[in-house]
Amino acid sequence: MKIDKILIIGANGQVGSALLPKLRSIYGEEQVIASDLALPSKPLSYFEQVDATDKQSLANLVKKHDITQIYHLAAILSAKGEADPIWAWNVNMQSLLNVLGIGREFKLHKIFVPSSIAVFGSNVPADLTPQDVVLNPSTIYGVSKVATENMLNYYAGRYGLDVRSLRYPGIISYQSLPGGGTTDYAVEIFHTAISGRRFNCYLAEHTTLPMIYIDDAIRATIELMEAPIDQVKVRTSYNLSGLSFTPGELFKQLQQYYPDFECDFVPDFRQYIADSWPNSIDDEDAKNDWGWKVEFDLARMTSEMIAHLSDLEL
Ligand code: NAD
Repeated sequence: MKIDKILIIGANGQVGSALLPKLRSIYGEEQVIASDLALPSKPLSYFEQVDATDKQSLANLVKKHDITQIYHLAAILSAKGEADPIWAWNVNMQSLLNVLGIGREFKLHKIFVPSSIAVFGSNVPADLTPQDVVLNPSTIYGVSKVATENMLNYYAGRYGLDVRSLRYPGIISYQSLPGGGTTDYAVEIFHTAISGRRFNCYLAEHTTLPMIYIDDAIRATIELMEAPIDQVKVRTSYNLSGLSFTPGELFKQLQQYYPDFECDFVPDFRQYIADSWPNSIDDEDAKNDWGWKVEFDLARMTSEMIAHLSDLEL
């Protein structure tokens, strides 16, 4: 059987920069085409520059490389989206419609599009937020992700497209800096602690948010994509839980490694976004349907982040 040819859209971003090497290690370098609106910061093999809102350019790329699977990661995230909501909506929805349309036209085997905990508003249970609740998001990003989930479900039902999705919590990674989300502080704090500076946290000390370490997020993504089709029962997007912590708890973990590290908590507009999001997520469906199991807790994540970032700084 011919092996699938994969296209990652938004490959330079926080998720893409970790997903790309992992997929290439599994399927082979030439089997995974990287693409992004921006050029990569370092030379990258099998890279194509493309604007995902331009359907013809995207279709040309899919044709040129005989693509059979897409991981569509390009999006404008929560904090950035609030600066220009209509632009964020247009980028997020147009790129999605292009990917879904191309999925039908080229009879793609599988498509992955992430959703987010930003789909939840403050009207749902904040602790162990269930899979199926009324979705009233507070940001344009969340509004676009609710629409995304509904479009994925619609294309799966109406056209039989094999679309798969996870509601990622805030992702903590060392491969690249995050791209304008509300949980970015949890990555930036590591860089600041390691460089010996004082950290200015834009969220209040006791704000609990659902997070996930990048290795768990990438493993969840690949496990969902490789799950047999009959195990993938949720076609909107699966709740996914990693770990939950506050900025204060992460600060205290880092002080175990850097006793002189100091942090000020000065909430800005992102506090309102964080306040509308859950504290923790119930991911029973992901566990039951395709066997999801988290591996990283706060202590293990902190030690891995410090080890990787210290290596990078050497
Ligand atoms: P990011 O901002 O780090 O990366 C997005 C990438 O998309 C960037 O490299 C950007 O250049 C590219 N891009 C933007 N517009 C584009 C366009 N028109 N055409 C092609 N490329 C374009 O985002 P990320 O953190 O890697 O997020 C990836 C996906 O995961 C997104 O759908 C996001 O909503 C979702 N997600 C991320 C998090 C998180 O904590 N990082 C949490 C929940 C959901």
